[in-house]
Amino acid sequence: MTILRLILFGLFGLLALTWLPSDSRAQGPQDPCSCKAQDKLDLEERIKKLVEADKEYDNLIKHWQQQPKTMLKESLRTAEQGKVNTAMAKIKTPGATRYSGTLGGTDVNCESWISDEAPLCLRRALKDHEAKHKTRCDAHKDPENELFVELLSGSADWRDKQTIVDYLKEEKADHQGEIAIYQSELKKMQNNCKQFTELDRSEKMLLEQALAQRERLDQAEKRVSDYGQSLS
Ligand SMILES: [Zn+2]
Repeated sequence: MTILRLILFGLFGLLALTWLPSDSRAQGPQDPCSCKAQDKLDLEERIKKLVEADKEYDNLIKHWQQQPKTMLKESLRTAEQGKVNTAMAKIKTPGATRYSGTLGGTDVNCESWISDEAPLCLRRALKDHEAKHKTRCDAHKDPENELFVELLSGSADWRDKQTIVDYLKEEKADHQGEIAIYQSELKKMQNNCKQFTELDRSEKMLLEQALAQRERLDQAEKRVSDYGQSLS
């Protein structure tokens, strides 16, 4: 009888495991995201980049606070975010994974995405960052009136109802949230990893080559658009 019960328990246990979503078995909250030297380096570099971004946000916030109230629009957002991206791009840690574009985003329909290029240990914080954008987007979106709003204001992007200063402050706060998650990931690594594996050289070579190619294309594109602008 006891043996039968044990077998039954065992079977139920196995069944329960198959019912669980695969993610819940993968990693506990205290497990490090990885014990690879590469992932640790990528985390450290991302923190440095975000600290640099923060400084740029501060400059921009100060600048816009001295201007008459200015509403956000897509072109302004791209321009100001571009300055932040430039500040971040100046941080180049030897051996860190380079990525060719933005690591994540949330579009006007409140859909969030994370780039396939996003290194493993950055993904949780990136998802958290975009989830905050999505929450704010969903809260401001009125699905019934979407078309109406679009006809009325010429835009369905709720961010157009924000001031540039509010947007910059929000983005800065989100970046600080990201830094906090990365720091806790690093701490878990330091507490749990007995040793770190070597950097993966061959994979990195391919990434660096792809990035160099991308940079050449970007520069060519920029020259074309500078030329275009000088005509108008
Ligand atoms: Zn953001």
